[in-house]
Amino acid sequence: MSGRNTLGQALIDAALLLDAKGVNQGMSGNLSARCDNGYLITPSGMAYDQCTPDDMVWMGFDGNVNGRRKPSSEWRFHHDILASRPEIGAVIHTHSRFATTLACLQRDIPAFHYMIAMAGGNSIRCTPYATFGTQILSDLALQALQERKACLLGNHGLIVLGETLQRAVALTIEVEALCEMYWRTLQIGQPILLSDAEMAVVQEKFKHYGSNAQQSGPDGNQ
Ligand code: 13P
Ligand code: ZN
Repeated sequence: MSGRNTLGQALIDAALLLDAKGVNQGMSGNLSARCDNGYLITPSGMAYDQCTPDDMVWMGFDGNVNGRRKPSSEWRFHHDILASRPEIGAVIHTHSRFATTLACLQRDIPAFHYMIAMAGGNSIRCTPYATFGTQILSDLALQALQERKACLLGNHGLIVLGETLQRAVALTIEVEALCEMYWRTLQIGQPILLSDAEMAVVQEKFKHYGSNAQQSGPDGNQ
């Protein structure tokens, strides 16, 4: 298998995993991963269980396109995110139930739980509504993603970024779980929000979280 084919299969596997976890629905949503001075992106309007790696479309940052299918209608924000955020290797867009429910309120998700810091700050912002597939939607998304790895799209869904495809998948699952918890919390009251200072402490701890190669005491590397 060529490099592009392997990456194409990884995109399909990631989409099917999100489907199996109930995070994505049918044909909605799309995924991309950085590849050869451009990116590989899922085709528009195709069910992932019907896709083969050949159905993925390669799009160059210079405007070149290579593939037998039409690229996702959201290629603009995939393009703009990958072109402007060199640290990001993959972009996932879903219409997952809980994130999209909250996006319909067009409200940012505040620091109701410390894990919000996983998305890069003390909130997950929500954009105003814009028609799918437009440059306006891409511009709004880029703004909402400043110093963040996730944002809600007003009356639409969710975007999640990752340094790698695996990290993007993991964060998508995490953010959708947080959206469910926030939704549940709102059913029974007003959450107590964590302070900006506490969220800064958590973000600092997250820089080392999970890197256990060198243990140095019970609190080492935390
Ligand atoms: P595509 O099938 O064109 O990727 O579009 C799905 C979608 O989620 C549009 O916002
Ligand atoms: Zn969408």
